[in-house]
Amino acid sequence: MDNIASYPELVPVFQDIETIIGKDTYDMWLRPVHFVYENNTLKLSLPNQFWGQTIRERYHHIITDAFLKHLGVNITVIYEITPQTPTVTPIPKPNPVIKKNTFVSRLNSSYTFENFIESPSNRFAYKAAQAAAHKMGARENNPIVIYSSPGLGKTHLLHAIGNEIVKTNPFAKVLYMSGEEFVSEYIEALQNKEAESFRKKYRTLDCFLMDDIQFVSGKEACTQEFFNTFNVLFESRKQIVLSSDRTPQQLEWDERLSSRLLSGLPVEIKRPNLETRIAILRQKRDSINFDIGDDVLAFIAEGVQTNVRELEGSLFRLVAYCGMHGIVPTISIAQELLADILVTQRDKSINVNSIKKVVGKHFNIKMEDFNSKRKTQSVAWPRQIAMFLTTELTDLSLPEIGREFNRDHSTVVHGRDLVKEKIDTDPFFTAEINQIIAEIKSVDKV
Ligand code: ADP
Ligand code: MG
Repeated sequence: MDNIASYPELVPVFQDIETIIGKDTYDMWLRPVHFVYENNTLKLSLPNQFWGQTIRERYHHIITDAFLKHLGVNITVIYEITPQTPTVTPIPKPNPVIKKNTFVSRLNSSYTFENFIESPSNRFAYKAAQAAAHKMGARENNPIVIYSSPGLGKTHLLHAIGNEIVKTNPFAKVLYMSGEEFVSEYIEALQNKEAESFRKKYRTLDCFLMDDIQFVSGKEACTQEFFNTFNVLFESRKQIVLSSDRTPQQLEWDERLSSRLLSGLPVEIKRPNLETRIAILRQKRDSINFDIGDDVLAFIAEGVQTNVRELEGSLFRLVAYCGMHGIVPTISIAQELLADILVTQRDKSINVNSIKKVVGKHFNIKMEDFNSKRKTQSVAWPRQIAMFLTTELTDLSLPEIGREFNRDHSTVVHGRDLVKEKIDTDPFFTAEINQIIAEIKSVDKV
């Protein structure tokens, strides 16, 4: 994309692609490529067959999805081999501000506060992120640790903080990076004996945004390096915002680091409620400018409860399908197209035995334990989970479920409610339950 400067409207599209496939991969395969974009056709000039094949096989869908997401168009990609194209062209000239501020280039400008829907489930995280951007380094907001199960907006908020800061101060040294990148860059620096310059780079920052810090934990040398960097920045009152898919307590870092992390502002993002899911879908629809009714959006929002990434993915899938066939989306099309994702209220094909089998395997308990009188927690809790899943996934009545577990129906109600309560308060548990449900469904399909 060496001539991206001629197509400013495509900058967010390619930034998104870069975020998805990673900077190194992008630099390798896409950045040097010259292209023409007109009439919804992206023509790529490639130096050889191999290059074209690699992009086609690995990144074709990512590219077309990104165009659809940002511009609402289904593009055609043409792979043209033009051997005279130099295999490595210089990185395009950034505009003068970016040129001076190399840190900013890692920010994805399509993630902003403006296009993040605030809701009760993310309010604290949203407010904390805004505070970090507007009052950089203030003691009460430092460090911020945003945690949640995947797909709920952590990465979005981290980029939004960075974008907001450079909006008012284009020269601020704001660095976004993932825990994975930190680890691999540190290892590379060690191999090249450049640990010192690695250190210097980080320690001059004004704001350090590190995504998915769980990748750093468990790797001794990296954790130490991260801890040192963290301390230097923290002590010089620089803003630190971290994200993790585990709670700070679950990160299993040494006590000093854990207590430092907890001394700031740990904030959790929970799963969005129905109204929020609808609001998010509306916003995405408006941003891609595709004609899709509120009833269809409400239907998707009702059926996709796991996380925002899946919610968005479902919408884009429907839009892509209807766009391609030139039809208007309806609930019945959505129902058919998204059948594998939508929460089915009642799935008649699922039976109690497969629920017991999968839950038993997951928690390492025997089939007969589900019906036994044993009350120890290690057996009672999986049994309650299995009862809950039976109420959710089958058509059986409560007394019938009671019989399946050798209990009366009030015990089933009690167990079901305990599990429900945990689902409402613990996103990690919810993720675990979703995984179990997926497994049960796959067992029953066989
Ligand atoms: P995480 O980093 O927690 O896994 P992401 O930040 O990657 O999640 O979010 C997944 C997708 O959902 C992104 O495209 C993001 O823009 C979108 N998203 C998440 N939460 C919201 C929200 N509250 N409003 C608008 N979009 C959101
Ligand atoms: Mg993320």
